Amino acid sequence: MSKILEIEDLTVSFDGFKALNNLNFSMNTGELRVIIGPNGAGKTTFLDVITGKVQPTEGRVLFKGKNLKKIPEFKIARMGIGRKFQTPRVYLNLTVRENLDLVCNSNKNVFSTLFSRPNNNETRTVGGLLETIGLDTKANLQANLLSHGEKQRLEIGMLVAQSPDLLLVDEPAAGLTDEETENVGALLLSLAESHSIIAIEHDMEFVRQIANDKVTVLHQGALLCEGRMDDVQNDPRVIEVYLGETPTTS
Ligand code: ADP
Ligand code: MG
Repeated sequence: MSKILEIEDLTVSFDGFKALNNLNFSMNTGELRVIIGPNGAGKTTFLDVITGKVQPTEGRVLFKGKNLKKIPEFKIARMGIGRKFQTPRVYLNLTVRENLDLVCNSNKNVFSTLFSRPNNNETRTVGGLLETIGLDTKANLQANLLSHGEKQRLEIGMLVAQSPDLLLVDEPAAGLTDEETENVGALLLSLAESHSIIAIEHDMEFVRQIANDKVTVLHQGALLCEGRMDDVQNDPRVIEVYLGETPTTS
């Protein structure tokens, strides 16, 4: 099985404080990996290093076998790593369809995208995406009228439109209602059939919904344990550092 991501002896120091400490990690192409860990465990820093926002102090990150050292963020994105931040970044004054049109036609300028008729091929792509994210009936609604969960799904759709090989999502269930959480979870599971995905998550209910595969637990910048959700949940070390803390209600 080919590895989409390999991380070797990774340390990231901020003025001597090790946000990541000698971390080793790897995942197969096609995997949906969930990463959990208490606040401050280094989860977001982990994504920052993969996307090139932060450089390793020591160690290396290999994406599809290529060392990402000193490659700027925008080039890493073009190499096929798409990142979903916690807050949705969609154009609120455009409709759902127009938001997707923009990314599907990223070679053209905004005006030609908005005012020319899309060809059939592009229409199909946007139509397919609308269906995937479950917003086909809301295609012509302005994005500011969407619920928070629908905005999250739209932004995930905009990322998917760029055909990333690896999709990174940071706490996609934060601030969502139970129903919206389930929808986002179902979307990630359906995308996982054709994408490699890393989902960082704090909400344990959500983790249980999407973690069919391996779960990685980070603690103090290092790997605490890794395995199937049932095993991880019952690991005394995990209970002590993570499940023992006040649960976040999101
Ligand atoms: P998580 O996402 O798991 O909550 P983070 O990766 O955001 O954790 O942070 C890990 C640790 O690194 C925290 O203690 C945080 O304060 C520290 N940290 C993160 N980014 C910086 C930075 N730019 N400068 C200094 N310390 C940082
Ligand atoms: Mg974080």
